[in-house]
Amino acid sequence: MACTATPAANACRAPAARSSEPMAVRWDVAVIGCGPVGALLANLLGRRGHSVIVLEKRPAPYPLPRAIHFDGEAMRGFQAAGLAEAVLSATVVGKGMRFLDGAGEVLLDWPRAQEPGPLGWHESYRFHQPSLEAALRRGLERFAAVELVEGREVVGVAEGADAVVLRLAGGGEVRARFAVACDGASSRLAARIAGGFEDLGFDERWIVADVRVTAPRGDLGDLSLQFCDSRAPATYVRGIRDWRRWEARLMPGDPEDMEPRAAWERLVAARGIGGVTLERAAIYRFRSRVARRWRQGRLFIAGDAAHQMPPFMGQGLCAGVRDAVNLAWKLSARLAGRGDEALLDSYGSERRANVLEFIRRSVALGRLINRSAGGAPPARRMTSIWPPLGPGLGPRDGIGGTLCPQPRLAGGRLGDDVAGHGFHVLAQGAARSLLPVLPAPAELRLPATLQGVVVRPDGYALGGFADAASLGALEQSAAAHAPAPVVAA
Ligand SMILES: Cc1cc2nc3c(=O)[nH]c(=O)nc-3n(C[C@H](O)[C@H](O)[C@H](O)COP(=O)(O)OP(=O)(O)OC[C@H]3O[C@@H](n4cnc5c(N)ncnc54)[C@H](O)[C@@H]3O)c2cc1C
Repeated sequence: MACTATPAANACRAPAARSSEPMAVRWDVAVIGCGPVGALLANLLGRRGHSVIVLEKRPAPYPLPRAIHFDGEAMRGFQAAGLAEAVLSATVVGKGMRFLDGAGEVLLDWPRAQEPGPLGWHESYRFHQPSLEAALRRGLERFAAVELVEGREVVGVAEGADAVVLRLAGGGEVRARFAVACDGASSRLAARIAGGFEDLGFDERWIVADVRVTAPRGDLGDLSLQFCDSRAPATYVRGIRDWRRWEARLMPGDPEDMEPRAAWERLVAARGIGGVTLERAAIYRFRSRVARRWRQGRLFIAGDAAHQMPPFMGQGLCAGVRDAVNLAWKLSARLAGRGDEALLDSYGSERRANVLEFIRRSVALGRLINRSAGGAPPARRMTSIWPPLGPGLGPRDGIGGTLCPQPRLAGGRLGDDVAGHGFHVLAQGAARSLLPVLPAPAELRLPATLQGVVVRPDGYALGGFADAASLGALEQSAAAHAPAPVVAA
C-alpha cells in the first residue's frame, strides 16, 4: 500500500490489520530512501509477507534519469520481486559498447548477445530510470503490509535491544526490527555504519546530458561509444525510444562552478552534435569507493550508500540490485526465526568482494577512456564479468558463491519462479532431494565428480554435491537458513 505524506501532514493509510498510526507500529524492516534499491528491497520483503515501511525524504520520485543500462542479473532481481513484465515494458535490449581512439579505430569491443543467456534474461538492457522507479513503486501497492511514506526525512537512528528507532524530520519516530539505509551516495547513515570507505582513487567531474533526437538518427547506431581521447574524453549512449545520452569529462583547468549549459555547448562543438533537443544537463562527480562495514547490529547499508563507481560499465545500480537481493532473503530468514548473526554478517562480506570487482573494472575502463595509462588496452575484446561472492554462507571452493544459471523450463517458465525463489537443486541427472529439483542447464559447468548444485534464493551456489551425503549436508544448511516463502503477487 503506497501513500504520500508531507512533513506537515502525514497522509498514510495504514493496513486494516495494523494500527491506524503507522509510526506507532513496530515494523519488520524500515527502508530509508525510495530510490531504485530501497524500492526493490521493499518489494522483495513484501513478497515474502514482511511488514515494511519505506521513508523517502522527497515529496515525489526523482524525475531525471541517471542509470541507463542494467544487466541480466539485475533483471533476475526484478523477476524475484515479481516485476519482470512491468520492468521489461520500458527497456530495449542492449547491443554493446565500443571504445574508440582519437582516429575512430576500435580499441576495445564489448558486444552483448542478442538472445537470452544463461541467467534466463538478456545480457544487457537499456532503460529509462524514472519508468523503472515508477514500476517499482507501483509494485509496492500489491502489499497490504508495505507502506511508502514520502516527504519524511530520517534524521536520527538509535538501536535498542529489540528494535531500531528512526527519528524523523518534523517529529515522530519509526520502530523496526531492522533498518536498511538505501539513502544514496550522500548517505548520513553510511558515515556511521561504514567505518570509513576504501577509495580506489577515481575522482572526476563529468557533464551528463540527456537529449531527445528530433528526427531519425540511424547514423548514431545502437552501440554505446566511448571516445578515448585524453584531450576530450566523452561517451555516447543509446537510450530507449528517442532518448540519447552524451557525457564528457570536465578537464582539470575547468572552473569548480562550471555551468552544465557551458559544458554542454563545448561538447556539442567538440563532437558536432546536432538534431537533438537538450532535456537536461547536470554535472556529476564520479568516484570509486566501497564501505568497509555494511552492517552494525540491526542497521544495514545498501546501494550507493555502500558503494560508488564511475558509470562506464553501467553497474552502479546493478550492484545495488545485487545488494537488495542478497540482503532480502537473509533478513527474511531472521524474521522467520532462522539463520543467525553470521548469516547477517555474510551480507557485507559476500557483497563487498563482489562489488569491488565491478569497481576495479569500471575504474580501469575510465583510465582507458582518459587514455591516461597510454598505449593499447590489454585485449581488443571484452566480455561481461560475473564475479563470485566473497566469504560467507557455504564453501568458497570454485562452486560455492558463484552465480548459477537459471533454466527456462517446459512451457517457458523460469527456474527461479518454479522453485518459489527459495533454495533449490540444479541436478545433472536424477536427484532425490527435500528441495525442489530442476534440470541443470548446459551452462552449469561442474567438475565430472559433481552431480549438481544447491542454489540459494539469490541465484548463487550454496555448494556442489557429489552424492546423497553431501547433498544432505547442503539440505540441512538450506533448511537452517530458509527465508519465508513467497506468498504474494
Ligand atoms: C550519470 C550516471 C549514470 C549512471 N549510469 C548507470 C547505469 O547505466 N547503470 C547502472 O547500473 N548504474 C548507473 N548509475 C548509478 C545509479 O544511478 C545508482 O547506482 C543508483 O541510482 C543508486 O540507487 P540507490 O537507490 O542506491 O540511491 P538513490 O537513487 O540515490 O536513492 C536514494 C534515495 O534516498 C533518499 N534519501 C536520502 N537521504 C534520506 C533520508 N535521510 N531520509 C529519507 N530518504 C532519504 C533520496 O531522496 C533518494 O530518493 C549511474 C549514475 C550516474 C550519476
